Amino acid sequence: MSATPAPRGDFPILARTVRRGLPLVYLDSGATSQRPQRVLDAVRAMDTQHNGAVKRGAHLLAEEASEAYERAREQVAAFIGAAPDEIVWASGSTQAINLVAYAMSNVSAGRGDSVESRRGVDPHVFSVGPGDVIVTTRAEHHANIIPWQELCLRTGATLRWLDLDAEGRIDLSTLDRIDEHTKLVAFTHVSNVSGAISPVAQIVEAARKVGALTFLDACQSVPHIPVDFHELGVDFAAFSGHKMLGPTGIGALYGRAELLRALPPYQFGGSMIEVVTMEKTTYADPPARFEAGTMPVAQAIGMGEAAVYLTEIGMDKIARYEAELTRRMLASLTKMPGIRILGPEGESNRTGAVAFAVDGVHPHDVGQFLDSKGIAVRVGHHCAQPIHQHFGVFASTRASLGPYNTVEEVDYFVESLAEVRRYFRVED
Ligand code: PLP
Repeated sequence: MSATPAPRGDFPILARTVRRGLPLVYLDSGATSQRPQRVLDAVRAMDTQHNGAVKRGAHLLAEEASEAYERAREQVAAFIGAAPDEIVWASGSTQAINLVAYAMSNVSAGRGDSVESRRGVDPHVFSVGPGDVIVTTRAEHHANIIPWQELCLRTGATLRWLDLDAEGRIDLSTLDRIDEHTKLVAFTHVSNVSGAISPVAQIVEAARKVGALTFLDACQSVPHIPVDFHELGVDFAAFSGHKMLGPTGIGALYGRAELLRALPPYQFGGSMIEVVTMEKTTYADPPARFEAGTMPVAQAIGMGEAAVYLTEIGMDKIARYEAELTRRMLASLTKMPGIRILGPEGESNRTGAVAFAVDGVHPHDVGQFLDSKGIAVRVGHHCAQPIHQHFGVFASTRASLGPYNTVEEVDYFVESLAEVRRYFRVED
């Protein structure tokens, strides 16, 4: 076995066998990644040694839990080039995107003044209504389409989208859909289907030119390439713990500090307030303002540990290694009869999420056949129907890489896939 940037021995699950005792070949990290022992240990230590209510008690456990919770925020912030108060815990990218969409409709419904614009930004920058436009792209996961569709339906604003070219990359000739009516541009950093890396700089520039905000869905970039939100110049971003070797049930919203300060809350309850009377409530500063109720504390600590683990390995190293595996996979798949890659066929400017259609074989059959060989891949529409519509298919099979995959696993996957059409007797 070749050396992987994330040592395989760190991941207990990778040692298990699957069907008929075959070794597990896990090529589904785009859906959810596996977790190293360090992350499992961090969550367990929280549960077995330090569990206490965060920021609510005067006892030692509460103090330890609160410190660990905030340390995790610092770790995650450092990982993506942000300040700790620019990181809001959420249950995942989906919740982080909904948080901003609902907060925007609260402003649009006249609640922009519920937070004092103490330091600069006028909350009405978040207000949308008839005549205003939200722009997204056809490459998005449903989590970065539907919250904006619903925001438009609630407020009377219009949804537009950037289209894609034949390879599934964002077609820059459609950038003019970002115009002076645009209030926000929400787009993915990396497509979970095509693996294409979006032209962030051009989109941010187009948005800035017309005074629109930007929201980056970084779910599929943060685990695979170095990401610095300040450098990218985006206003908001979302990413999920479980896709970056961390636990499920936790993720983060990044927001530029002055924007978060001007954004009203979208969920209300404990831990997000300053003063409550029966008549009126004033809200805490971010990030607490957006963390109503009891948060998934152990999971946040696990996500912090995952961020440290990835940082120690080095995201440059992971990106280089995964690019090499992707090149190897694509070089074989592009030559294979009856296989159509749904995304760029070259390895440059893309990651290792490789979706493909097999001529004459349904993706579920492909998935089951590969599963019988011990290979785990994703099948279906991957919560991204519009990009499948763009490619003219209902569904696809997707192999997606993580920093623990080996060259041998990629070769075994390629050899197995080469047998699929013969097995289902659809060879040319
Ligand atoms: N955005 C992209 C690009 C994704 O790939 C996913 C998950 O597959 C999501 C958003 C939603 O992430 P979560 O289910 O962790 O909220």
